[in-house]
Amino acid sequence: MTKKYHFWISGCQMNYADARQVANRLERIGYRGTATAEDADVIILQTCTVRQHAEDKAFGRLQSLKPLKEIKPDLTLAMMGCIVGVKGDEDLKARYPYVDVWMPPATDGTSLISHLLQGEDQIYEEQNIHHRYDIQDGEAIVPAQKKGMNISAPVAVVYGCSHACTFCIIPQRRGVERTRPIGDIVSEVRSLVAQGVREVVLLGQIVDRYGKDIPDGPDLADLLRVVHDVEGLERIRFLTSHPNYMTDQILYAVRDLPRVMPQIEVPIQAGDDEILAKMKRGYTVQDYRQLIHRIREIVPSSAIHNDIIVGFPGESEEQFRRTYDLLEELEFDKVHIARYSPRTGTVSARRMNDDVSEDEKRKRFHLLDSLQKDISLRKMALWLGKTVEVLVEDKHKGRWRGRTPQGKLVFFDGGRNRRGDIVDVQITYAGPWSLSGVPAEQKTHMSQASESIPLTLI
Ligand code: SF4
Repeated sequence: MTKKYHFWISGCQMNYADARQVANRLERIGYRGTATAEDADVIILQTCTVRQHAEDKAFGRLQSLKPLKEIKPDLTLAMMGCIVGVKGDEDLKARYPYVDVWMPPATDGTSLISHLLQGEDQIYEEQNIHHRYDIQDGEAIVPAQKKGMNISAPVAVVYGCSHACTFCIIPQRRGVERTRPIGDIVSEVRSLVAQGVREVVLLGQIVDRYGKDIPDGPDLADLLRVVHDVEGLERIRFLTSHPNYMTDQILYAVRDLPRVMPQIEVPIQAGDDEILAKMKRGYTVQDYRQLIHRIREIVPSSAIHNDIIVGFPGESEEQFRRTYDLLEELEFDKVHIARYSPRTGTVSARRMNDDVSEDEKRKRFHLLDSLQKDISLRKMALWLGKTVEVLVEDKHKGRWRGRTPQGKLVFFDGGRNRRGDIVDVQITYAGPWSLSGVPAEQKTHMSQASESIPLTLI
């Protein structure tokens, strides 16, 4: 009987990319995905620690699986991701002895595969697995990580982070920055395309540091050029950028390579120099302002997305006002706003006083949110009457849903299957977060939509 695996995933796109690698290995040894934990022979929890809430949720899920493990002792329970961390955690292993396999972030799942093949007198080796199960390269199915994700798939290109922003736990959990070899990335992208993926999102905590840890290594612009040549791939995006590492070469690649989409995710986090210094971000507001002008000069069609943290320790009313003014001045397409909360283990949690009240954080959040809503709406209205190319990802509430090159969400009606098509849509409605319109002309058609293997999305 076919054995089954079940994934429970929380966190960022990097976690989805890692989970897909592991799922691919499981597929190669004959396992198939299931949406139901109770049906599974292997359950893998892919965890996030960026906020306390995410960590609590993962431990809650782990606890809830204990009775199932007691009833099914042959069930393999695996934990992976940021909770495990690159150094592993002996304390965790002692607290949760019913977990069989612990896997750090950016794992390829080797320890899990070895565990599953134990007892079959099988020394783990990829070649042997191919012979044993008669599976050819590229046959493994790419699991759908969430709706539309087998049209657009995340691909990790830089693991870890060597920065030390004072509010961030990621470097401790994901370890120092490691560039993934270009050949591995291209093989993965080719395999994804062969399985129906039309767009890849190249991921790194600081994606534009790609290659910086290798003497004379390729940079992100080189990587974009190589991935751009993968036949059958329609679109490439990359995130997240850091203001200090976004070079003109990267921007020229975005400008000159038609399949690289003009969407830049470059967080500033705060609009005040003193707060930026306390965050140890490594740039000033003026540096950032110049960068935005440079991006708009080189890639005028680009959509720029930003992240902001409000209520960082010591943030005064006046300092917050500078952030507000900056957003008003630079008019981003999208801003992800977060209220500061101290994360255990970070420098800001250890050394800084979380002295902005929750009410004040909420107030600042709403002020920025409402400002950004107006800006986004104004910018979205500029698309009214225009025809945009939409890569269709899925159907949502009876309407087709996809994205423009700038990453704008577009809805439209249409009878037949459009999944994976690039459709010209004339925009007739603009809201702050999405557009809708009428399809004009179909550009391409993907003959076979990939089979979806459900993973639990939280
Ligand atoms: S750049 Fe800063 S915020 Fe981003 S992952 Fe690294 S330490 Fe965290």
